Amino acid sequence: MISVTASLVSFVYTILLFVVFFSKPRLKNKENKIFSYMLIASLFGILLDSISGVLFLNNVDMNSFLYMLLTKTIILFYVVWDLLMLSYVVVISYTGDESKINTMLNINKTIVMLLSIIILLSPLRIITKDGLAYPSGFSINLMYIVTIVLVIVVITILIKNFKNFKNKKYLPLFAYLLFGILMLIIQNITGILLITCVDVFITILMYFTIENPDLKLINELNIAKDQAERANNAKSEFLSNMSHEIRTPLNAIVGFSQALSEEDLSPQAKEEVKDIMMASETLLEIVNGILDISKIEANKLEIVDTEYNFNMVLEELVALTKARLGEKPLEFRCAFDSSIPPYLYGDKVRVKQVILNLLTNAVKYTKEGWIEFKVSSIQKDGICRLIISVEDSGIGIKQESIDKLFTKFERLDIEKNNTIEGTGLGLAITKKLLELMGGQIVVQSVYGKGSKFTIALDQKIVENPTTVLESTKVSNIEAIDLSDKKILVVDDNKINLKVASRLLKDYRCQIETVESGFECIEKIKAGNHYDLILMDDMMPKMSGVETFHQLQQLPDYHIPTIALTANAISGMKEKYLNEGFNDYLAKPIDKTELYRVLVKFLQQEDIL
Ligand code: ADP
Repeated sequence: MISVTASLVSFVYTILLFVVFFSKPRLKNKENKIFSYMLIASLFGILLDSISGVLFLNNVDMNSFLYMLLTKTIILFYVVWDLLMLSYVVVISYTGDESKINTMLNINKTIVMLLSIIILLSPLRIITKDGLAYPSGFSINLMYIVTIVLVIVVITILIKNFKNFKNKKYLPLFAYLLFGILMLIIQNITGILLITCVDVFITILMYFTIENPDLKLINELNIAKDQAERANNAKSEFLSNMSHEIRTPLNAIVGFSQALSEEDLSPQAKEEVKDIMMASETLLEIVNGILDISKIEANKLEIVDTEYNFNMVLEELVALTKARLGEKPLEFRCAFDSSIPPYLYGDKVRVKQVILNLLTNAVKYTKEGWIEFKVSSIQKDGICRLIISVEDSGIGIKQESIDKLFTKFERLDIEKNNTIEGTGLGLAITKKLLELMGGQIVVQSVYGKGSKFTIALDQKIVENPTTVLESTKVSNIEAIDLSDKKILVVDDNKINLKVASRLLKDYRCQIETVESGFECIEKIKAGNHYDLILMDDMMPKMSGVETFHQLQQLPDYHIPTIALTANAISGMKEKYLNEGFNDYLAKPIDKTELYRVLVKFLQQEDIL
């Protein structure tokens, strides 16, 4: 009576589960398929078991052919369910090893077929004693043997693969198997037929713990998300490597064209060199943009906060914008609130970059009229909220395009803009940088009339600057004579050495070049004297940083050493200064930056 009731309850429950499982979207993989077979088998098993129970209660002739067939089919269900469980364990244990899985599943199929024939053909007897029915005979013994063997095989597979198993299915499966074995023992002791209910119960438990389509879909989604993130990181890595590779030849183009522009050339040649310089500068901007966006996306871009002179930043921005205006008939108005504290604490390079992006766009997208650059501030508790706005009387932005404005590689109004150079990266970078710095940006625009971009950005106020903050840019390059100075340039790339030598030639200094850190160390060890070393960092075998650290170990090493790298992302300067370098130069080497370094390390000595 107990087992019949249990069977009927299990049957109703399995039907419900069956409906829920098959009505949900499911993943199409092997383990899912096997589980659905388990569910179908369970439904049939419990149905047959319930029928058999009801017939038994109604005193049907138990040795009739039909009842015999029914009992054999139930025995068959146990064997099929056990083998499905084995197949399930095989699939989750050997994920990735398709050939092994397929071989084992084929073996399982063959065993199921053979056992089915044997069970159906072998004799079975049913004995009733104390109101209970005991099936006996070869098929029932076979079923027990198969169950025991399979339990042992399943447990062996689970234990063997336990270490490399990560998806948290092993523990529930172990628990279910132990539960199954326990129930089998209880069945043997009490004589109550439990095995069908137990199999069904385990199937139900599996549904709720490891085979729920919802859980599986979420799991699969997480895996897909991880894969997408990994692919995105690989892309960013690739872009950043490519940008680095592009910067090296660009170094040669920028360097040589700068040098050429100062030669005595025909007016036409001068014009052409100027075009080469402009084109290479644009290319450099694009490469830097790609480098920035890929660093931001790979979460590798760090905001490097330092004390800085905000007035100086404004001055530089105004000078750069005026230079960009060129011949354009545009009035450039500036209004800076005089109450803004001169010294602030934040990432000066990035603050300048975001404002410059807005100013550059205003120049690019305004044909005539005016551009207004305003900065005001709200100060509270040592924090200065900068309110920076750049307004123009330019082409404006359509209302429906405003949302796309900050999406990378998105350029609006292409028909109108096709003569204006750009990549669609500037505003995407601006927005992301502002997010990283805790700032915000808003846009107001009337199509055809003009646009206004406003930034709000908090920076700490520095009351007493610890260092006298020097200007990083030198506005005028004056002719200086360094003919008594000797400079060593270390770079594995011959073209880069030529560029550096060409740029240094103007100062008439003595130049020596070597192509590796080892050679550099040899030169110093051999007693050669230099006044300055320009050291590339990215060199094979021994990097610039490693070379420098070895140089520092040498007795009496005190030659100013400048790091040179094409890896010109923000924070690099600080990184090299922390390593102990005296200064840092980004490649392509900027003429004014080189001048600044030469003056700082070679000329000041003379003045002192
Ligand atoms: P880029 O200028 O390199 O194309 P941005 O990301 O800086 O890329 O700008 C994206 C797009 O937004 C531009 O292509 C342009 O269509 C539009 N835009 C940006 N600034 C302005 C502006 N001040 N006036 C009108 N349109 C602008």
